[in-house]
Amino acid sequence: MKILRHLSPSGPAYAALQPDGSAREISGDLFGSFRVTDRVVTPGKLLAPVSPPNILAIGLNYRRHAAEGGKGVPERPMLFIKATSSLQNPGDPIEIPRGLVSTEVDFECELAVVIGRTCKNATRASALDYVLGYTAANDVSARDWQMKWNGGQFCQGKSFDTFCPMGPVLVTRDEIPDPNKLRIRTLLNGQAMQDWNTDDMVFDVAALIEFLSGSKTLLPGTVILTGTPHGVGYARKPPVFLKAGDIVTIDIEGIGALVNPVTEERV
Ligand code: MG
Repeated sequence: MKILRHLSPSGPAYAALQPDGSAREISGDLFGSFRVTDRVVTPGKLLAPVSPPNILAIGLNYRRHAAEGGKGVPERPMLFIKATSSLQNPGDPIEIPRGLVSTEVDFECELAVVIGRTCKNATRASALDYVLGYTAANDVSARDWQMKWNGGQFCQGKSFDTFCPMGPVLVTRDEIPDPNKLRIRTLLNGQAMQDWNTDDMVFDVAALIEFLSGSKTLLPGTVILTGTPHGVGYARKPPVFLKAGDIVTIDIEGIGALVNPVTEERV
């Protein structure tokens, strides 16, 4: 099932996308029991598919990406956290910051895992049972803050407002039996910058859930960003960074295209 979250007249609501393109209302709790009703709805503004209690993210989790950054493959998953306030809707802009300035804003296509129920100490064998579904995300990163400047600014560089676009839909786990066999791409203004497959992950989705739930409770709605393949902007020669007017598309097989324009920060 492909589930979209949209702004209905009564607030954020979920709907199930049908094969003919129509949408049907979902009633109940997505993280408890829910059902797809017969009621056809016209979706309002599209929202990020979840409002997560935590955004856990993994660095250097694709072999060729670790190599392009001049880093070795990590022995254990490398965890960082993105502020939940960095969440952005499909179609809404990635904003180039003007408060704490960055001139090196970069894209990272990532498979996002959405946890469906409380998960602690999952085993590898049980890990995928806790997954509600998958969506696409862009782990937008201010490289100057993340890597150039001293003082441990890694999370800072990943957590600016609008730096976590997610969507366009949540695809339930039954439709993606193997999350580590999906083509994953970034298109910048229509040109492919990243084009790889989730089978290159150092730690696959089950291993990440086992690892993360071994130290912390994964609350329902928690999002895990599973890392990005090679082809990111900073590692290119010459480097490519996002600028106002760009259009960034993250496209994952079986999920669809997450499209966001880039603008100057407006606040
Ligand atoms: Mg990343």
